[in-house]
Amino acid sequence: MHRRRFLVSLSIVCAAAFAGPAAQSHWLDAYREPARRLIDESRSSTFAWDRLAELGDTFGHRLSGSDNLDAAFKWAADQMRRDGLENVRLEPVKVPHWVRGAESLEIIAPGRHPLAMLGLGNSVGTPADGLQADLLVVRSFQDLDAAGDRVKGRIVLFNVPFTTYGETVPYRSDGASKAAVKGAVAMLIRSVGLPGLRTPHTGALRYADGQPQIPAAAVSTEDADRLQRMVNRGTRVRLRLKMEARFLPDADSFNLIGELRGREQPGEVVVVGGHFDSWDVGAGATDDGGGCVVSWEALRLMKKLGLRPRRTVRVVLFTNEENGLRGATDYRDRHRDELANHVLMFESDSGVFRPTGFGFSGSDSARKTIEEIATLLHGIGTDTITAGGGEADIGPSVQAANIPALSLNVDGNYFLLHHTAADTVDKIDPRDMSTAAGAIAVMAYVVAEMPERLR
Ligand SMILES: [Zn+2]
Repeated sequence: MHRRRFLVSLSIVCAAAFAGPAAQSHWLDAYREPARRLIDESRSSTFAWDRLAELGDTFGHRLSGSDNLDAAFKWAADQMRRDGLENVRLEPVKVPHWVRGAESLEIIAPGRHPLAMLGLGNSVGTPADGLQADLLVVRSFQDLDAAGDRVKGRIVLFNVPFTTYGETVPYRSDGASKAAVKGAVAMLIRSVGLPGLRTPHTGALRYADGQPQIPAAAVSTEDADRLQRMVNRGTRVRLRLKMEARFLPDADSFNLIGELRGREQPGEVVVVGGHFDSWDVGAGATDDGGGCVVSWEALRLMKKLGLRPRRTVRVVLFTNEENGLRGATDYRDRHRDELANHVLMFESDSGVFRPTGFGFSGSDSARKTIEEIATLLHGIGTDTITAGGGEADIGPSVQAANIPALSLNVDGNYFLLHHTAADTVDKIDPRDMSTAAGAIAVMAYVVAEMPERLR
């Protein structure tokens, strides 16, 4: 019902949306009308949300190497052609092919109780009938060091509450090798995410070179708390972990590209995008199907309204962000000769919740221009430009050619959902997607259209 009310009230919202702050730059006047049209078009329907729902409902999750991802890429290429995009192509990329298989974790003493777990991506498996060991809980790498010989032969749980991704994720990426060096037989982490409804979060680990590789999994925050309480009471907890996880040979995948060729300087390119792969649970809606769709929308909206900017606008849906970043590095290498003519790269990979503006990295003069363009977005509340733009997939290209980088800022519960079975489209508000798509379209359009190149 709320979607219907949203559509009815649009005309009122849009009339008020473009009053804007009093002091705006004169050069922007030429862009007020196209900006209004792009935003109106985007916010007059739930097209973006409907497309994301179709993606998730039809193909589900999309881990690198999976048939789901392959089929989803081919569907998306077909949809891009139907949208009227140009030069739609699938650029081949070899990707790692990790498969989870069946997995379980249970307390076997005292009593038997299954735990809510997800193996970590890139983990090795256990022997076919699993492995059993006593539990050792630590709260930090320092704790692990202090435990000394008590680590040997144990399953180690890093019970480290989520603070920021940067602070907490090293336990997921490096914990297995650090525990293995001290003789642990398996590693568990408290999920890197917010407490939810006993929902574990997967994510990639990275084994250190030359160290023994032990299986590793995440448990829900509730199960981590439970295990901690049991150990605090002095209970000896014995666990059995079973995982069939393994690598298959590298698989064929793609980056998908579509364009609106520039009418005057087609060799200069504004890139928008996201990563099309996801973890193998949920439907990769928040991470990062939504980011892909709202970026792609920028081109569809321009095409639909007959707005063909001076420079080329290119959407890139990258492969393999989650467990390899091969799409990102392939794009950099394949397009190395034209990176110097990449005017701006944008990626959305923080979920599509209520958009608040953009993060930007680049020169002071480019920042000033971006801030001025953002005044066109004042009426829809997406005009705040913060320091630090960019996401993982555009990173290698941005670094290689010092390209101005932009990312979408949102207000929402990304770290409650991402990498979980709960990452499905119903968590996303259609209005947020329409607003985000409109804001991205305006930003991409003006940067591609303005006479002076962004510098
Ligand atoms: Zn992501």
